[in-house]
Amino acid sequence: MKPLETILSIKNLNKRYGSLQALKNVTFDIHKGNVYGILGPNGSGKSTTLGIILNVVNKTSGEYSWFDGNMQTHEALKKVGAIIERPNFYPYMTAKENLELVCKIKSINYAKVNEKLELVGLVDRQDSKFSTFSLGMKQRLAIASALLNDPEILILDEPTNGLDPQGIHQIRDIIKHIAAQGTTILLASHLLDEVEKVCTHALVLRKGEVLYSGLVDGMSVNQGFFELRADDTENLISVLKTHPAVKNSVNEEGKVLVYLKDKLEPKELNQFLFENNIVLSHLVKRKNSLEEQFLELTKNK
Ligand code: ADP
Ligand code: MG
Repeated sequence: MKPLETILSIKNLNKRYGSLQALKNVTFDIHKGNVYGILGPNGSGKSTTLGIILNVVNKTSGEYSWFDGNMQTHEALKKVGAIIERPNFYPYMTAKENLELVCKIKSINYAKVNEKLELVGLVDRQDSKFSTFSLGMKQRLAIASALLNDPEILILDEPTNGLDPQGIHQIRDIIKHIAAQGTTILLASHLLDEVEKVCTHALVLRKGEVLYSGLVDGMSVNQGFFELRADDTENLISVLKTHPAVKNSVNEEGKVLVYLKDKLEPKELNQFLFENNIVLSHLVKRKNSLEEQFLELTKNK
C-alpha cells in the first residue's frame, strides 16, 4: 500500500502572545482522506493553531509545511478551503450571486455554484438574499463557498457554534458527506461529542499543549471496566487479583470495579470466577466514554 499523502506537517509549533504561551511544541501531521478534530476547552489554542497554518497569525517558533513541503504557503493556501470567522457575504445579494462573485474573483467555473449549493442543501434558497438567512444557512453557504474550487482540505473553526440542534445536525451531516467524498477535513471544536461523531483523528489540546494525538477510537486507551457484585466482596477481589487480564479491582460501596490491562469478555470473567467458587449477583461491562477520558486527560495537567 502506498503511504498516505501528507497534507500538512506541523513540528514544535510555539506561539507567545506577550507573556502568555498559547502553544507549546505542538506537533502533528495531517494525511489525505482523514477527518481531524482539534479538541480542547476555550482558550486552549485551537484558533491560534488554525490561524498560524493559514498564515493569518505569526508563529513564535517551530515549523509547518504544506503538501510535503513542495509548495510555498501562499501557493498551498490556494488548495485550502477555510472558514475561521463568522460567515460574511453581501447581505443584499442572493446566495447564488454571492457564490458567483467568489467564482469570478477566483476564476472558477460558474457551474460549481449549483454543485456546491446542492451539497449544502441550499438550492431551494439560492435566490434568497443572504440577509434573510439563518445562522445555520449562512454557515452552510460559507461551506459551499469554501468548496467552490474543490480544495484538498477544508478547515473549519467551531463549525456548529451558535446553531440550534437542527442546524448542528445539518452541518455535521454535511461535513461527514464531504469527508465521504474524499476531502480531508480539519476542524476545531470544544465539543467532545462533535469530534467523536465527525472525526477519525483527534488532537487534544489543553493550555496549548498536546495531551493526545491519534485515532478517535484510540482514545479509548483502556479496555473498559467491569462492575461486579458477589456476597463475599473481599474474596472476589483476591480472586480477581489472580487473573492475568485484570489491572486492579476496587471496592466502591459494595460494588467491585475491575479495571483491565487486556481484553476480557464478560463470559470469560464469569466463567473464571465461577470456577473459583464465586457466584456473581451482578455483572456489567462498561467502557469509558470519550467524555470521561477527555475529562481524565484534561484535568490536573
Ligand atoms: P481557542 O480557539 O482554543 O479558544 P485561542 O487560540 O483563541 O484558543 O486562544 C489561546 C490563548 O491565546 C487564549 O488564552 C487567548 O486568550 C490567547 N489569545 C488569543 N489570541 C490572542 C491575541 N490576539 N492576543 C493576546 N492573546 C491572545
Ligand atoms: Mg477558538
